[in-house]
Amino acid sequence: MTDETTSAAFGDVEVTRVSEWSDHLFSRPELLPDSGREEWEAEKGWLEPVFWSAESEDAWLCSQSFLVRSGGRTILVDTGIGNGKPRPGVPPFDRLDTGYLANLAALGVRPEDVDAVVCTHLHPDHIGWNTTLESGEWRPTFPNATHLLPKADFDLLSGMAKSGDAPDPLGYVSAFLDSVAPVVEHAETQLWDGEEHVIDDALRLVAVPGHSPGAAAVTISSGGDHALLAGDLVHHPMQILDPKQRNALDADAETAAQSRIRMLGWAVEHSAPVFGGHFPGGRGARISAAGGAFRIDSWTTV
Ligand SMILES: [Zn+2]
Repeated sequence: MTDETTSAAFGDVEVTRVSEWSDHLFSRPELLPDSGREEWEAEKGWLEPVFWSAESEDAWLCSQSFLVRSGGRTILVDTGIGNGKPRPGVPPFDRLDTGYLANLAALGVRPEDVDAVVCTHLHPDHIGWNTTLESGEWRPTFPNATHLLPKADFDLLSGMAKSGDAPDPLGYVSAFLDSVAPVVEHAETQLWDGEEHVIDDALRLVAVPGHSPGAAAVTISSGGDHALLAGDLVHHPMQILDPKQRNALDADAETAAQSRIRMLGWAVEHSAPVFGGHFPGGRGARISAAGGAFRIDSWTTV
């Protein structure tokens, strides 16, 4: 699998992937538990080697950010897992040590240059670089950024943090405490709510609840060109072919499927490539409608 960074322009908006991590995380049945092996076998020609290994059953994912340059501003969509975060419930993420900030620097971006951080939802693999360790304290990595956070996720997790006794096997609460609470305290944050939130003339956050209550996708529309940064609306391209396939970690799988069908419909209508938050190598699927589902026509990368 190549790991080159490219970028793409959608009208006046430029999108570049910032690579963080890629390794084994889930097998096919762990990721999409209702999706049968025979359906994957039928797509093996393009699923391998990037999205699946038929032999090991690995369903390959990565963690990454999308660096979006829009209207003169530098915006990061999702901030990955982060370095040094204790994540004992998810061993591959536990005290990770990657060159994410160097990858960002290689794109000409210093932490202080980031004007806005957009977290599509508040799971640990989308908020990690919000903070870095400074003299033993978690402090905002991007000190000048406004952090746009979904209120529904924020309310759920801050409530769990306050009650202190909710089961939390995947460390959602500890991630909230080390990667969200410090930016609320020490940086600018904006909790957004409702169906959508306008970021600027070209960018909108659209609520796509299901994976988490506050889950969102980012639409890009500029100069007649469009793209969809889907976050965890689509974990794996097999969910484009069959949008009813649930992800094992969806909080509300039925609502997630409805959100997926609606936003993939938007992508078809607007000829917008769909960039899954975890698609390896910043890949985006150009899709069309196929009966009640969707088909992938070609791939692009950022
Ligand atoms: Zn995720």
